[in-house]
Amino acid sequence: MARYTGPSCKLCRREGEKLFLKGDRCYTDKCAFDRRPYPPGQHGQRRSKATEYGIRLREKQKVRRIYGVLERQFRKYFASADAGKGVTGEALLALLERRLDSVCYRLGFAATRSDGRQLVRHKHVLVNGKTVSIPSYLVRPNDTITIREKSRQKGRIVTALEGVERRGVPEWLSLDKGAFTGKVVSQPVREAITLPIKEQLIVEFYSR
Ligand code: SF4
Repeated sequence: MARYTGPSCKLCRREGEKLFLKGDRCYTDKCAFDRRPYPPGQHGQRRSKATEYGIRLREKQKVRRIYGVLERQFRKYFASADAGKGVTGEALLALLERRLDSVCYRLGFAATRSDGRQLVRHKHVLVNGKTVSIPSYLVRPNDTITIREKSRQKGRIVTALEGVERRGVPEWLSLDKGAFTGKVVSQPVREAITLPIKEQLIVEFYSR
């Protein structure tokens, strides 16, 4: 599946808030959004009034960019959330959180979701003892996610795990840091997603 390969910081500047796409760098004074908190491009500093459509579009784009999902796949997630029971917006976020690349990030095996994606693609991650190389794989309760034994010495995994306390592991996951293993305890709940997301705007965007 294709992925966005352009500059990450431009995305934060475009969305007008920090999306934390670059791990530790986002917490330093090198953050591009802190330095230039206006949209990129020649006309970035012009003032323009956001329309109702624009507000909903930006919210949808923001969430897509946080999770590193392209439009076609995002629409599929929305259709699946819409077809299921429960609140569509919350179901959409739960689906995105259950992606294996996102789970690797949440468990602290990766510093960012895109790092998590690379870990999975490069076959460093096992789910229930079997290698899974599909970043969009959706984990389920009772699944066990492990870093392959040979990969446990990798500097970027060790460094990412060192920072896990600062970020915290959500309640729907549990981590055994020494064993490089995480477990899915339950389905993700809305309260566990602390990002400033107004999912109702995304529902309104696709329902227009
Ligand atoms: Fe966004 Fe700042 Fe992180 Fe770049 S460094 S991805 S601008 S939060």
